[in-house]
Amino acid sequence: MKFKRKDFFKALALGTISLPFAIRGFGGNANAQDEGASTLSGERFKWKMVTTWPPKFPVLGEAADLFAKWVKEMSGGRLDIKVFGGGELVGALEAFDAVRSNAADMGCGASYYWAGKAPASQFFASVPFGMNAQQLNAWILCGGGMQLWEELYGSLGLVPLLAGNSGVQMGGWFNREINSMADLQGLKMRIPGLGGKVLKRAGGAPVLLAGGEIYTGLERGVIDATEWIGPYHDYKMGFHQIAKYYYAPGWHETGTALEMFINQDKYNQLPNDLKMIVQTAAQRINIWMLSEFETKNSIYLKKIIDEGEVELRQFPKEVLAELRDHTRESIAEITAADPFSKRVYESYSAFQNQISNWSEITEKSFYNNIQLS
Ligand code: CA
Repeated sequence: MKFKRKDFFKALALGTISLPFAIRGFGGNANAQDEGASTLSGERFKWKMVTTWPPKFPVLGEAADLFAKWVKEMSGGRLDIKVFGGGELVGALEAFDAVRSNAADMGCGASYYWAGKAPASQFFASVPFGMNAQQLNAWILCGGGMQLWEELYGSLGLVPLLAGNSGVQMGGWFNREINSMADLQGLKMRIPGLGGKVLKRAGGAPVLLAGGEIYTGLERGVIDATEWIGPYHDYKMGFHQIAKYYYAPGWHETGTALEMFINQDKYNQLPNDLKMIVQTAAQRINIWMLSEFETKNSIYLKKIIDEGEVELRQFPKEVLAELRDHTRESIAEITAADPFSKRVYESYSAFQNQISNWSEITEKSFYNNIQLS
C-alpha cells in the first residue's frame, strides 16, 4: 500500500508517525527481535581499543577516551574499553591489522590510512576536492555510503563506525607564496596520501615526515611547506613561529571523516543493547568531534593571527582548478585498478553531484549573503 501525502498529515495529527521509528530505534537493528533474549544480559565484556594517535592527542585521542567513558556509563560497566595510544600496545599504523587478527578488539583512526590494504577505504575518509563534513555525513549515514563501507570492512573481518570529522582543514604552511602553478614546481611539501600524489602530478615533491619531525624540517628548510590539520593543532605544533604564509583552504582534506572499527566476531558476541550503545556512542562522537574542531579552530585562528607574523592567504582559483584536474586523473587511476574503488567512487561522486546542487542554492548562499555578523 502506498503511503500518501494526506495519510502523512493524518498520521502527524494523530501523533503516530514517529512510533514505528521509535520502536525500531530502541530495539536496535533488524535482527533485534530474534536476539532479544540476549538483550540486557548481565554478561560483561572487557575490550582493548588501539588508536592511531599519540595518547591523549587533542580532539582525536580525546574522542577515543570519551567514547570508552560513554560506553561504560551507558552500559553500567558491562562493556569496559581500555584505550591504548599509538605505540602503547601496537604501532599506530598497525591498529587495523591488530584488530583484524584479534590482538585488539577495536581501533580508531582514519580509513585512508589503510588505502595500501584496501584502496576503496580512502573514499570513506577524504579525497581531494571531495565532500565537506555535512555532505559526507549525509552520504555515509543516509546516502548508501555506510552499506558500501560495511561491505568492504566486512570482507576484512571488521565492522566500521563513522566516528568524527575534522571539518575543512587548512591548506598548510608555506615559506614561499603560491601565485601560480610555477610556484608548486619542485615544492618540497609534507602532504601525505592522495593529496601528495596530486601535488606530485602538479610538479611538486611530496615528502613523508613523521609528526615529530615536521617542525624542524620546516625550520631548517628540509621542506618548503607542510600541511597538518587546522589552526588548533597547527598552533600547538608552533608552525606560526617559523612559516610566512598560512594558506586556505585544505583542498586535499575538505572534511576528513574519522572512524572506529571493531573485530566482527567480537561485535557479534555483544548482546543487542550493547551493540546499540556502541553505535550510539560513535554517533555522539561523530557530532562532538566536528563541534570541538570547529570551536577550537575558530579560537586558534584568531590566536595565530594575533600572535604570529603570518600572512593568511587563499590559494588562487587557477591553482585550485589545476589541482582539481590532477585529482580527477589520480582517482581515475585508482578506480581503473580496483573494482571496489570504482563502485564506491561511483556512489560517492553521484552523491556529491546531487548534493552540490542543493548546497549551491542554500549553504553557499548562506555564507555569501545571510550572516548577521
Ligand atoms: Ca591534514
